[in-house]
Amino acid sequence: MSAFNERIEALRAKYGNRLAILGHHYQADDVLRHVDFQGDSLELARKIEGLSAEHVVFCGVFFMAESAAALARPGQKIHIPHQGATCPMADMAPAQRLEDVLNALREDGRLVIPLAYVNSSAEVKAICGLYGGSVCTSANAKTMLEWALQQGDAVLFLPDKNLGHNTANQLNLDATERLELDIRQDGSRIDHKKVRYARLLLWPGVCAIHHKFKKIHIQELRRANPGVRVVVHPECSPGVVRASDGAGSTSYLIKYCADAPSGARIAIGTECNLVQRLAARHRPQGKDIIPLKALSCSNMAKVNEERLAGLLVDLEAAQPLSLSPDVIEHSRVALERMLRICA
Ligand code: SF4
Repeated sequence: MSAFNERIEALRAKYGNRLAILGHHYQADDVLRHVDFQGDSLELARKIEGLSAEHVVFCGVFFMAESAAALARPGQKIHIPHQGATCPMADMAPAQRLEDVLNALREDGRLVIPLAYVNSSAEVKAICGLYGGSVCTSANAKTMLEWALQQGDAVLFLPDKNLGHNTANQLNLDATERLELDIRQDGSRIDHKKVRYARLLLWPGVCAIHHKFKKIHIQELRRANPGVRVVVHPECSPGVVRASDGAGSTSYLIKYCADAPSGARIAIGTECNLVQRLAARHRPQGKDIIPLKALSCSNMAKVNEERLAGLLVDLEAAQPLSLSPDVIEHSRVALERMLRICA
């Protein structure tokens, strides 16, 4: 145990039910042992509405804390132990660029509905709320894309093109009906002739971690481990998803390991903190869980025990996350639409 462990626990005891700590599955064990609730983005977003704590500390990356701030009750303060823990994929879709591209896509009168993966800023979610769209997680992307396709002429899915393609594959949306956009120069490079025929327009973003998994990793692993099952997160490329035995959200990967019989060997293509935790959890039942390749998210790692302790020591004086009333109103519309559709 580190020197911060006791300090954090003493501070948690001091605040009692005035404090709730939430942690994402990709956090390291020394952070997660201090949380009240652990989950993926959707599970944690759902938790916010039922929390009465005055202070909510979000151990994850910035966009997750922003979603919590949008859903928080009046007076509730949302904190993150390190403001620099941003998600590179979320940063690939700046709000102003989205608005410019969306307006360019709607120029010829087509109703284009924006659908943002939760890995996006609160401002991006607010634009989705404002333009009749919504947000999705990897767990409900299929339901949400199906819904969005029924709301207009086309859907602009952002920022993760891999999740967009993988979800479109689940819905059997033909490749000819999809278009990866050239978003440079405020949308002026968009090919409007091609846009006219596309029902799914994809923002060209990727997760810096999951995009690094390659088909060759699966092929090599299968050669070295006959009988291994490979499951991956849908932020991986469509080629990697096709080469695997299954793909799904973090909750799916957790359940896959739980449901596997004793003696199973499973390789998982996702952030390695989660894989290591699953390996330790299922080792006693004789399950061998290994990473497809050991890749960790350096931004998630910016939240650590030392920074959590530092925040808790000065919690009363800490500046909570603040969003403009407009951003709260419209991002909440987008988030609540998702929670309602997926209830
Ligand atoms: S794992 Fe990928 S999507 Fe998740 S926070 Fe890191 S960069 Fe962003």
